[in-house]
Amino acid sequence: SSNPDPHDFLDLDAGLAEEDRAIRDAVRAYAKDQLLDHVAEWYETGALPAAELAKGFGSLGLLGMHLEGYGCAGTSAVAYGIACRELEAVDSGLRSFVSVQGSLAMYAIHRWGSEEQRQEWLPRMATGDALGCFGLTEPDAGSDPGSMRTRAVRDGGDWVLSGTKMWITNGTVADVAVVWAQTDDGIRGFVVPTSTPGFTANEVKHKLSLRASLTAELVLDGVRLPSSAAFPEVRGLRGPLSCLNEARYGILFGVVGAARACYEAALEYTLSRSQFGKPLAGFQLTQRKLADLVVEVNRAGLVALQIGRLKDAGALHHNHVSFGKMANVRSALSVAREARSMLGANGISLEYPVMRHMANLETVLTYEGTEEMHALSLGQAVTGLAAFR
Ligand code: FAD
Repeated sequence: SSNPDPHDFLDLDAGLAEEDRAIRDAVRAYAKDQLLDHVAEWYETGALPAAELAKGFGSLGLLGMHLEGYGCAGTSAVAYGIACRELEAVDSGLRSFVSVQGSLAMYAIHRWGSEEQRQEWLPRMATGDALGCFGLTEPDAGSDPGSMRTRAVRDGGDWVLSGTKMWITNGTVADVAVVWAQTDDGIRGFVVPTSTPGFTANEVKHKLSLRASLTAELVLDGVRLPSSAAFPEVRGLRGPLSCLNEARYGILFGVVGAARACYEAALEYTLSRSQFGKPLAGFQLTQRKLADLVVEVNRAGLVALQIGRLKDAGALHHNHVSFGKMANVRSALSVAREARSMLGANGISLEYPVMRHMANLETVLTYEGTEEMHALSLGQAVTGLAAFR
């Protein structure tokens, strides 16, 4: 019988439902037509046609894809994961765009918002007519969000928000920001229209990673909101952490796409380039690397699928997500770094995708819980001992 397919060695996609394969093919086709030819330029210039992308992703049904109602597609978790995988095969910044909209901003409103907040925002966000961002991190509060300083205080029937959020994806283009703030009652979430007086977003410049993504500092200077702007029920870090868990799920699937793109670039390159009179792929040292890459890509793909199945079965624990985020980002980074070497000098060029992916994955290692935070979660899960502080 013939060898396994080098592009799907463990035949993982054969086990996908028809719906999942249809979504995979739709996102791949869109990527080929609309994204792949432009992504290097977006990366180089750090500019992104956000409104146009939002409409495109919205028409594909990718925004809030796994949410029910309010114009969202309501797909399985695996289908959503596959969409993230195919987008991140193009660029982690584009997957971040969809993650922030669907898994952070929309999920927060869907899970914790009032009926009025859901009706107001979700249908427009699902089509891409309105963009959202998610403000948790601050200049002095990253891995330890409980130490945030942004505060919301009551003034008559209103809320008044003051503080600074940092590293907020899509902050400069968002119509609505989900902002987490300290109150007398613990941390609460607020739905903040970005046109509210006192709200400004400043672009973060000089990034060397995730350049095809817009990143902002949000300044809230006495932003006055009606009483109805707060999420009614949720208090404490449970609110934002529930959203991050959703977004991390998209990441553990997404990075499989970035890893696959690097592996495929290395395979194609080493088969077509010759030195010392034969293809690079014919040297034993190169084959050692190709074997490592195909193992890592498929192992990460298998981890993602299993976690997706747990999510669809309603059996997902947040430590499963920590496992997947830590394991798969680490795999993808090792694949990207190894692939980079295999392309030689071309490996450092934006003409090829590998160094772009490699640089992006440094952000992915850090955001949504650093690799160390997930290691501490897993450590606590297996020992029962917390080592966070
Ligand atoms: P720190 O928390 O200061 O950590 C620095 C280092 O110390 C890390 O290696 C960390 O693991 C380690 N460390 C910290 N505490 C411990 C400990 N107890 N034990 C061992 N090691 C420890 N945030 C949002 O809210 N919304 C967004 O949309 C968003 N988008 C982002 C986009 C980009 C491009 C980037 C780079 C970041 C984004 N973030 C966003 C922020 C991101 O979530 C934070 O950067 C992340 O949580 C880490 O926080 P920090 O950068 O302050 O690092």
